[in-house]
Amino acid sequence: LSQAARENDSLLPKMPPFDYSPPPYTGPSADEILAKRRQFLNPAIFHFFKKPLCLVDGKRQYLFDDKGRRYLDAFGGIATVGCGHSHPEVVEAVVNQIKRLQHSTILYLNPAIADFAEALASKFPGDLKVVFFTNSGTEANELALMMARLYSGCHDVISIRNGYHGNAAGTMGATAQGSYKFNVVQTGVHHALNPDQYRGVFGSDGLKYAKDVEDIVTYGTSGHVGAFIAEAVQGVGGIMELAPGYLPAVYNTIRKAGGLCIADEVQSGFARTGSHFWGFEAHGVVPDIVTMAKGIGNGIPLGAVITTPEIAKVLTYRSYFNTFGGNPVCTAAGHAVLKVIEKEQLQQNALTVGSYLKDRLLSLKDKYEIIGDVRGRGMMLGIELVTDHQLKTPAKDETLYVMEQMKDMGVLIGKGGFFGNVFRITPPLCFTKEDADFLVDVMDYSLSKV
Ligand code: PLP
Repeated sequence: LSQAARENDSLLPKMPPFDYSPPPYTGPSADEILAKRRQFLNPAIFHFFKKPLCLVDGKRQYLFDDKGRRYLDAFGGIATVGCGHSHPEVVEAVVNQIKRLQHSTILYLNPAIADFAEALASKFPGDLKVVFFTNSGTEANELALMMARLYSGCHDVISIRNGYHGNAAGTMGATAQGSYKFNVVQTGVHHALNPDQYRGVFGSDGLKYAKDVEDIVTYGTSGHVGAFIAEAVQGVGGIMELAPGYLPAVYNTIRKAGGLCIADEVQSGFARTGSHFWGFEAHGVVPDIVTMAKGIGNGIPLGAVITTPEIAKVLTYRSYFNTFGGNPVCTAAGHAVLKVIEKEQLQQNALTVGSYLKDRLLSLKDKYEIIGDVRGRGMMLGIELVTDHQLKTPAKDETLYVMEQMKDMGVLIGKGGFFGNVFRITPPLCFTKEDADFLVDVMDYSLSKV
């Protein structure tokens, strides 16, 4: 639908006003870009939309396409753009730094890198104080797994089925969804039962799922374990909060078996869950290693691992380095992100607006039989569509249809879950109540057409 068609149809929900219009777009057409993408770019196609949108501008929670149409970005660049698109303070930090020094490495000292490491470490409990920078979540998890294996002297890793940890050899091993596993040798990884409160065999009884980890240690290892890695809220896996009681029990088991506990905060970190700055905090645990990416740089490529001085020592006399990881331009962005989250009280906003949005989505569940579950916290929400409540039959085509309809009306959401039938709502944390109302009204309208 054109912007005018959206605005003039009295039946369609109206997008909240927004005080910004981008400059007119004068570049190549979307069709020309699509032709180049087909010829020159990664052929993997993600079937989110019939035709990818051509996005050319962004401001806070809104995106603009080549035709000047505005979209409410309720996916946030896959849970990445926490402060909002092209946030002026993040942009300024990047521009100032890039003008001064574009690149530096671990061989030298630089304030932008050291200052951000200090600020980041101040956000963590306990002894988590030593930061390693990477370029992505995959690299952060690869490093975390390697460090844990070196420290514990054991290769066995336990991760959770349905989790996603990245796309290199080690992280692909820890990932436990078939569609993200390719022909790569992955040894020493055991996948535990998913403490999935909607589909899992033990419902919300975290301790029963935790027993499976104990069994893996007993039957699948020598009794010695290298590491356990988990997301506090599975993102790619369909916004699944681990059952209560699960993490503390598992951490206990792993530590008794000599292993380290790794929290993958790539999606759930940086205030996204609203109630806490880090997802693991809601479970009352303190990990040995935490990995981050996505929200850390608001979209500027950056990842990080934080651990204790004691564990970090395993790399002291080894030549571990990463050419671009911790580039000063990226760390300047990261530092600005921390300041913006604090200054604009984005964690509080994620909690307040996220709770409001979740309540409104729950009211849709009462209205539409196709909604099987509404879950998540803060600005990390999931809506699972099923065609049969009893059997929990995934509603795959309907999911795509609704997303396409919503896109036409100006709302972008994501999807995920093992069956691809879960809407993922992970907007910038500056999302407003008016945005939440618009999103729910648009989803309501689209679901009514299914
Ligand atoms: N861990 C989690 C929880 C993720 O969601 C992702 C990416 O979606 C990754 C790790 C991998 O991060 P990246 O895509 O930056 O390599």
